[in-house]
Amino acid sequence: MYSLSTPIDTIEGIGPKLLEKFAEKGIHTFKDLLLFLPLRYSDRSNIVQIKDLEPNKLVSFSAKVSTVKSFYKNRRKIDSAAAIDATGKVKLMWFNNKFISQTVKPDSTYMISGKLNDRGTIVQPTIEKIADGAVDTIHTGRLVPIYSSTLAIQQGTLRRILKKALAKYQLSDRDSFFEISNDIAPNLPLIKEALTQLHFPDTEEQIIKARERLAIEELLSLIKVSEQIKTYWKQLENAQAINMQEPQIPHSVPFELTQAQKTCVNEILADIATTSPMNRVLIGDVGSGKTVVAGIAAYHTIQSGRAAAFIAPTKILAEQHAQTLRSIFPDLEIKLLTGKTPKIEDTNMQQAPCLFVGTHALINKLESIHPGLIIYDEQHRFGVTQRSESAKLHTVPHTLTMSATPIPRSLMLTIFSHLKVSTIDELPKGRIPTKTWVVPEAKRESAYDWIAKELTGEKLALIVCPFIDPSNHAAFENIASVKETLEAVKSKFSQLGKTYQKSFRIALLHGRMKPEEQNTIISQLYDKKIDVLVTTPVVEVGVDLPAASIMLIEAAERFGMASLHQLRGRVGRAGQQGYCLLFSTSNSPVVKQRLEQFSKENNGLKLAEIDLQARGSGDIFGVQQSGFGNLQFASWTNLELIGQAKKIYEKLPKSWEPFITPIVQEQDIKPLAN
Ligand code: ADP
Ligand code: MG
Repeated sequence: MYSLSTPIDTIEGIGPKLLEKFAEKGIHTFKDLLLFLPLRYSDRSNIVQIKDLEPNKLVSFSAKVSTVKSFYKNRRKIDSAAAIDATGKVKLMWFNNKFISQTVKPDSTYMISGKLNDRGTIVQPTIEKIADGAVDTIHTGRLVPIYSSTLAIQQGTLRRILKKALAKYQLSDRDSFFEISNDIAPNLPLIKEALTQLHFPDTEEQIIKARERLAIEELLSLIKVSEQIKTYWKQLENAQAINMQEPQIPHSVPFELTQAQKTCVNEILADIATTSPMNRVLIGDVGSGKTVVAGIAAYHTIQSGRAAAFIAPTKILAEQHAQTLRSIFPDLEIKLLTGKTPKIEDTNMQQAPCLFVGTHALINKLESIHPGLIIYDEQHRFGVTQRSESAKLHTVPHTLTMSATPIPRSLMLTIFSHLKVSTIDELPKGRIPTKTWVVPEAKRESAYDWIAKELTGEKLALIVCPFIDPSNHAAFENIASVKETLEAVKSKFSQLGKTYQKSFRIALLHGRMKPEEQNTIISQLYDKKIDVLVTTPVVEVGVDLPAASIMLIEAAERFGMASLHQLRGRVGRAGQQGYCLLFSTSNSPVVKQRLEQFSKENNGLKLAEIDLQARGSGDIFGVQQSGFGNLQFASWTNLELIGQAKKIYEKLPKSWEPFITPIVQEQDIKPLAN
């Protein structure tokens, strides 16, 4: 019996070499293998007869093949043969194929896939032996799976292995926990069926249905985790109750809070005043002023004798937050702790409590900090306090997570049911919407010219270059291309400087620069010593540069709407008119339309809706996620499917176990506690 946990070396044909290659990709068991899904499909399902072959059309046909003749031309091995069916004959040709001459035999019948070229030959056809009458093919005559080439195994070999795995795998008693019975969800295919269809689909509709099945599975597993966390947090009663001071909003805050900010402050303060730990998310569009709201919560925590931790996604942002918070709350002791900051021993409970601002490295130091409140800024995983083994806290801290990603209500109620939500739904007074233009390449010169005229010494222009390989997380920033842009921009602006008798100070900032270099640039930015900053999306998450007025985004099509919106949110933050110029290297009308739509809409929530409509409910493999939590199968924007999952979840028996391990796991989400 082969179940999901059976190791794959039990599959005939998987020897040590293949096993090693699979292991490199984390594929060890049947389950891992079956979840190694095709990237796409080659449509070879159009089955014809030889007389109907047309040039340049990918088709399949069954035929007998004449003896293969091999010869060499320009040192290249060429094999040729004729394929014959009842209606005609066609020439086949292969280059450098070691196996064809040995494997193809005249007395057998084959399914052949390929395209006829203009000279009446099919070059490099795929050929697969078929038993008489049977058409159970895997390489030809159907929708054929194409797997990621990051796994260095031949497509043909992979298909054969998956075919065998699917045939051998049977639901064991344990595995059956995750299959959902028909009376709970009619029309839902079994997972086993879905996997079979994903590898060897009968039709395109079957692919969509199967993907939906896995997406639902993923959503169900998230709902389950969310429910577990909710239950878990409910029984916790050992947080520090934060005693409120008067006035609630410290006098040092240099502006009047918006009504929405006040409401959020009240919600948060009410939560942290109790011993049951808060698990709340603060949602507000970029520039809505989340930092000060969180800062006020930290202020009260510290006033009542406990430390607070403010965790930012990047070092740059941590430094900036420390600076901003120091100016808004001058009475507070604020310590910046980033990766390399060594000493924390001198900070213990005896000392006056303070606000620690830092990157995720802070989490490993919680044991010495003992915060009463942890704030996560721009956290993409909601309510996920990364648990550190070293954290042995006696009390559970209150947790506040901030995000600019608008989360639809139905998502909140299902997948994030363990979180309470506060929303800042208005921008501070006097903000002018950023003007956004899609600029055609032909107008690049005049765009630079315009920027040069706009820059008066008080204003800052940001030029953002995307990362080139979005699939590779390590290549988070494409430094080379930023550097190239820097050179181009330098020479352009030195010319323009001559024209306008100005001198432009141009700088570079990216996350792989040495920390000291980054610091220098950042302080220069604040001191208005820089006119043009060439940068990567490090500025996307939350950087607050009041002088930033113009943003130019290169290859804008490479960013999702949410990212573009985040980027655009970096300019015009001090009440001045902000401008956003989008350049695109793509000629696709769809891309153009998307960018045009973006340029006309300033509201983050509406943009999320546009994104949703553009994708349609069929496309549930949302490639560009809207910014939080990477789902494997489902998309956060497919609300219909989320609703469906919720309904199914309510009927599931307690014993149900998810087939897909959710990205967020229970142990990750429990608050930091001993
Ligand atoms: P985000 O919500 O994107 O994190 P920030 O907290 O960085 O936004 O705030 C954006 C800018 O708006 C900051 O410069 C901040 O000082 C300012 N700000 C916040 N609240 C107000 C307010 N009520 N009135 C005026 N300016 C505000
Ligand atoms: Mg922010």
